[in-house]
Amino acid sequence: MKTKFSISLIMSGVLLFSTALFSAQNDSWSRPFPGHRIIANLYAVGTYDLGVFLITSEDGHILINTGLEESMPLIRENIESLGYSLEDVKILLTQQAHWDHTGALAEIKKLTGAEMWATEEDARVLRDGGFSDPHFKGREPFKPVSVDKIIEEGDVIELGEIHLTVHEHPGHTEGSSSYSMHVNEAGRDYDVLIANMASINPGVRLTFDPTYPGIAEDFANTYRRQKALDVDVWVAAHGGQYGLHDKWQPGQPYSPDTFVDPVGFIAAVNRYEDRYLKYIADEQR
Ligand SMILES: [Zn+2]
Repeated sequence: MKTKFSISLIMSGVLLFSTALFSAQNDSWSRPFPGHRIIANLYAVGTYDLGVFLITSEDGHILINTGLEESMPLIRENIESLGYSLEDVKILLTQQAHWDHTGALAEIKKLTGAEMWATEEDARVLRDGGFSDPHFKGREPFKPVSVDKIIEEGDVIELGEIHLTVHEHPGHTEGSSSYSMHVNEAGRDYDVLIANMASINPGVRLTFDPTYPGIAEDFANTYRRQKALDVDVWVAAHGGQYGLHDKWQPGQPYSPDTFVDPVGFIAAVNRYEDRYLKYIADEQR
């Protein structure tokens, strides 16, 4: 009896802990956060923790990521607060085909008539709403999105005066990607990266019975290639990953230097790489 009692006590403790963790995470994913200018024609229009990015041009805009399925009204509100219109979005992109970044793509696509462009591997997962994701296997599904164009490493996406370069940075998902561009603000040039950080979801397997063939090499190459990029200003798919709340608070006036952080970028990649090396060492113990 005694053993049974303590086991159930432990179980309910575990349950309580994981429920608390889940709701805390979800709260920061869905909590509203003001839209703000990152630099030049790049704006953050997502939630407290989910990075959604608008790149504007005279000929229409690019929207990267959407947050959760219910994030659409928040994204619209943020875009309008900056003086732009969601209906002017012409191209939709994603950084990783996971539900917390793709949930509202289908609805926004329908609403705007924008084209969905994606890497081949993420396109597959977008089309089936998450079921071919080798890790989640549809446990976290989202509304399927039709993909209009496949993009790959080195492609330059052009829309009006926007020239956005595609970087395939696989690992977190098979088709994960980052995007870079050069901007000029007040006479200065900046290299800007919308980075997909190579974090490892709990339960993913890298070496034995890998989650997908080549996943460990993908992560290693992504860290190496990210560290070789020229980066002045960077943002990422989660606010916490790029220190959003340390760098910018609501009401803070725009300055092109707010998100300049080349040292922080390398440090962040190194942090993820250290975790990866430890993850592999733990698997091989
Ligand atoms: Zn993810």
